[in-house]
Amino acid sequence: MLENSYIVWEGASLLDSSPIFLVLTGFVFPSSNRKTGRFMLQSWILQQKFVPTFAAKEGRDFGVCGNCPLKMSNINSCYVNLLPVNNIYRKYAAGTYPKFGANEIAILERYRYLIRIGSYGDPTAVPFEVWEPLILASNKWTGYTHQWSHTKTDPRWKKYLMASVQTQAEARVAQNQGWRTFRIIAPEAPLNENEILCRHTEDDRVRCDECRLCDGNSSKPNIADRIHGLNWKVSNFIKYVNQQ
Ligand code: SF4
Repeated sequence: MLENSYIVWEGASLLDSSPIFLVLTGFVFPSSNRKTGRFMLQSWILQQKFVPTFAAKEGRDFGVCGNCPLKMSNINSCYVNLLPVNNIYRKYAAGTYPKFGANEIAILERYRYLIRIGSYGDPTAVPFEVWEPLILASNKWTGYTHQWSHTKTDPRWKKYLMASVQTQAEARVAQNQGWRTFRIIAPEAPLNENEILCRHTEDDRVRCDECRLCDGNSSKPNIADRIHGLNWKVSNFIKYVNQQ
């Protein structure tokens, strides 16, 4: 019987060797995420030993977030609400998730579920060889990494992920290295000439599951999106970009 969620992988983070895991959710119950859309599998990369809110507050999240500037122990403007993510952790800790295997890959391939690569946690913390069969079976995805400048990041990720950047200078560096970029910008900031605004921000009837512009290297334009979320997170972000 098809389950809603599966544990795909457990092992040592490629970012710091701490024990982490990868869970996929949404095979049965559609996602309630208004931006990504109902029919997109979500993927969660979490520390094995820490509840996500604790890991974020205490800066014990390097194994899944690396040096992301947005995380709580840095500028604290990450848009992910960690309370529901705690529930995923608790179900994992209780051993309730079945293992993802060949049958589930076949289902992914047959029904072409879309995947959001890294709903929380950086995809590059998990070996590329774990992800690629899922991506190829799905054939439709979106994904982002803040680890694009990390020397250990597997360059094959350029094919599938957007480089998450915060400034024009970072965007130029990433693009020169062969990444397409996804740049978070302050609410009134202008776009670069080689960027377009996220389609959902332009028109909130558009969802990632139809748009899929954020799917790595190609001739598609780079994307920028206005920071959104709680006012204090937006304000933390604006302070940060103004200092760059
Ligand atoms: S540009 Fe498209 S795929 Fe990228 S975040 Fe916006 S709606 Fe989603």
